[in-house]
Amino acid sequence: MPGAIRPSFPPPASVPGAGAGLCGGARRRRPPGRGSVLALAACLLSPEGAGASDGGQIRIVYDPPKTAAHREIHDAMRQGRVLERVGAIVGLVRLPTRLTYRLEDCAGEPNAWYAPESRSVTVCYELIASIVRAAPRTQSAAGITREDAIRGPIVQILLHESSHALFDLLDVPILGREEDAADQVASFILLHLAPADARRVLAGSGAFFATLGRHEIIDRSAFADVHGLFWQRFYNLACLAYGSDKRRYRVILAANDLPKERAAGCEEEFSQAAFAFRKLIAPHLRMQPLDGERLRRAFRAAFRS
Ligand SMILES: [Zn+2]
Repeated sequence: MPGAIRPSFPPPASVPGAGAGLCGGARRRRPPGRGSVLALAACLLSPEGAGASDGGQIRIVYDPPKTAAHREIHDAMRQGRVLERVGAIVGLVRLPTRLTYRLEDCAGEPNAWYAPESRSVTVCYELIASIVRAAPRTQSAAGITREDAIRGPIVQILLHESSHALFDLLDVPILGREEDAADQVASFILLHLAPADARRVLAGSGAFFATLGRHEIIDRSAFADVHGLFWQRFYNLACLAYGSDKRRYRVILAANDLPKERAAGCEEEFSQAAFAFRKLIAPHLRMQPLDGERLRRAFRAAFRS
């Protein structure tokens, strides 16, 4: 559905202070901005039905929040079946062991991570709260709604941590930085969602990276971090999206969210990510053979389950 959200990727014009760490990357938190989670329930609620079959490999836990401030996040995430939806995508993969998705209190730390020892993806209430605080109250000049600004990064973060889980559980060899690889796989999956879902997650997570990028302090330690800089993550996401479908995502170029020099190689970058996914992860999927369209249908159905 090209053109449904105009434009698809650019960041919002102004956003109050963000403070989220991503996957252990809470190296430069700023004081949280004011905000409420009142809109969250509406953002995450879904009328859809039961989840896809994952052979019982995916376990979902919504820990009761310890603070009243997180109650609304708990209810909205649970009612929206947010963990279940991402878990349903990963459940398409035949895993050697059970994988747990858990939303929990993290003693003030806005973070998310995958823990190999417990085979679990943890997302902190504090991280969701920081995303809610960072989301603009009204639709941005770029056309990004508050709903997308909240939902997009939550889905991206869950897919990113899921990618770490897949690397570990499937013994996927990784060349280069694992954090970059996790972003690549997360982007590849989100670009296979239904067009409307993909555009919204893309817009929201792109805006979130841009927000964090604007606030990031780039000193020497930033270059030593295992994560790329937020603006690098922004452009990597933009490039993969544009490379996946130049027509659908032409607005990324039009909005100056991708320099022409980088854009020239994005189709190849996407092909490289697709080749790696087909080679290393697709053989573990429950259904075979898996061409691009069948993969798309499977991901779309799981996410909407
Ligand atoms: Zn990570």
